[in-house]
Amino acid sequence: MGDFAERLRRQSRKLTGPRLAILRVLRERRQPLSSKEVWSALPPGESDLATIYRSLHLLEDLEMVRRFDLGDGVARYVLLDEPDDGHHHHLICRQCAEVIELDECFVEQAERQIARQSGYTGLTHRLEFFGLCPKCQPV
Ligand SMILES: [Zn+2]
Ligand SMILES: [Zn+2]
Repeated sequence: MGDFAERLRRQSRKLTGPRLAILRVLRERRQPLSSKEVWSALPPGESDLATIYRSLHLLEDLEMVRRFDLGDGVARYVLLDEPDDGHHHHLICRQCAEVIELDECFVEQAERQIARQSGYTGLTHRLEFFGLCPKCQPV
């Protein structure tokens, strides 16, 4: 947890218990969790749902967690190991919310083309793929 504590401190935010507990849960699970799922993974009485909801938003602002929308209207969050430099591509199962990190960047050429056409520099991007994993496909 050392890095995360350090990053929170650098942001001059108070490192409260719930935030550390949330990071711990997300680190253990390695899959997108809703605030409710984080809450039920915590020891009883550790925190309340409203605090977790607010903390997740704060952690998202700090770019320590990333929000995923799997299309069911529930925001789920996954831990980011590093500040997002635009090269964390994910493959996410819509059903079980499994996340596979993709090493390959598929859009560098598109990025160069967009930069050329728009005159922008310093482009970054975010890219996620959604689908059904082999386990969740109907047999
Ligand atoms: Zn699945
Ligand atoms: Zn990329």
